[in-house]
Amino acid sequence: MSDPVKLARELIRRPSITPDDAGCQDHIAALLEAAGFQCESMPFGEVDNLWAVHGTSGPLFVFAGHTDVVPVGEENDWSHPPFAAELIDGVLWGRGAADMKGGLAAMITAALAFVAEHPDHPGRIAFLITSDEEGPARDGTRRVVETLAERGEQIEWCVVGEPSSRAEVGDTVRHGRRGSLGGRITIRGVQGHVAYPDNADNPIHRAVTALDELVQAQWDEGDADFPPTSFQISNFNGGTGADNVIPASAHVMCNFRYSPQCTPEQLQAATRAAFERAGAETEISWRDGGRPFITRSGPLVDAAREAVSNVRGAAPEFSTSGGTSDGRYIAPAGAQVIELGPTNATIHAVDERIPVQELEQLELMYRGILERLLAGHALTGSDQ
Ligand SMILES: [Zn+2]
Repeated sequence: MSDPVKLARELIRRPSITPDDAGCQDHIAALLEAAGFQCESMPFGEVDNLWAVHGTSGPLFVFAGHTDVVPVGEENDWSHPPFAAELIDGVLWGRGAADMKGGLAAMITAALAFVAEHPDHPGRIAFLITSDEEGPARDGTRRVVETLAERGEQIEWCVVGEPSSRAEVGDTVRHGRRGSLGGRITIRGVQGHVAYPDNADNPIHRAVTALDELVQAQWDEGDADFPPTSFQISNFNGGTGADNVIPASAHVMCNFRYSPQCTPEQLQAATRAAFERAGAETEISWRDGGRPFITRSGPLVDAAREAVSNVRGAAPEFSTSGGTSDGRYIAPAGAQVIELGPTNATIHAVDERIPVQELEQLELMYRGILERLLAGHALTGSDQ
C-alpha cells in the first residue's frame, strides 16, 4: 500500500518551480495507471497537465491539484534544503510540502486505497493536475476544464487539495470564494506650473476625489457566507519628480473582492461614475480574476463534514475567506467544489513544512469523502 509521506517526499525532490513540472506528473501517472486509471497528458503551451480517470460511468468526482511550486527565495535562509524532503521528528520539510505536494500525495494515496478496496465502485474518480497554478494559470486548469466541457464532461463533485486549514488540519474547509476584479486606471490631466493652476488640470486631485468616494462606499453587506465587498487601492503613482509641476497623468491599480451581492459590471460602472463625478478623464482596463462561487449544501459538503469530523473529532468551519484558487475555473460549470488541505502557516515561506500526522489525517479525510460519495456508506465508527 502506498504511503502519503513517501509520495510527498518523492514529489518534493522534483524541483518543479512554476510552470516546470519536473517529472512529477509522469511519476503520478505511473502510480495511477498501475491502479487502473486511464491517464491522459494535456499539455498547453509550456504547461503540463494530467487528466486521469478510474471507472466508466456515473457521477464524476475530481481531485484537483497542482505540481508546481513557488520559488524558494534565498536558499541559504532555509533550515533544511528546500528540495531534500528531509523528515525530522515527524515533520516533512521542503518547498511544496504544504502547497501542495502534501495534499496531492494524500489525495493520490487515498484514491489508490479506495479503488483497491472498491475496484468496481459506482461513479468515476478523476485527477485534474496542473503545473500552472502558482503562475499565470492560463494554460492549466482553465484549459483542461474547457477541453472537458467540449467533450461534454460534467464534473459533479470536486475537492481541491489546497492548504485550507489554519491551526490544525481540517479545521477549515473552503466552500466558495469571493470574486476578484482588478482595475488599472489612467487619469489624464493637463500639465502646468503649480503657481498657475488655472492653466492646468491636476489629475491627482481628481483621482483622489474619486478614489476617496470608492474607498468610503458601502458596496453591500455580504451575507451569511460572504463578507461585504471591499475595494482596495494597491498602487498609486503620478508626478514628474519636481514639486512645482502639475503632472499630465496619474496611474492607479485597484482590486475589488466581491460577494455575490455585486456583479463585476456594477462595480465597473460605479468606478467609472465616481471618476466622471470628479470630472476626470480616464482610461480603465479590467481583469476578471474569477467570479464568486459557493457550494452551500449537498452531498459533497455533507460528506466532507462527516469525514473531517470523524478524523479530528470536531466539525470543520466552512468558509469563503482567502485568495483565489483553481476552484474558480471548475465551479462555474455547475460542479460542487470544496477546498480541503493542510494548514497554511508556512506556504510560500522559507522553511515550508508539514507534520506527517497532517498527511495521514488528510488521507483519511479524503478517503472518507470517497467512501461516502462513491461507495454509498460511511466507514463504521471513526474513520481512524
Ligand atoms: Zn497551491
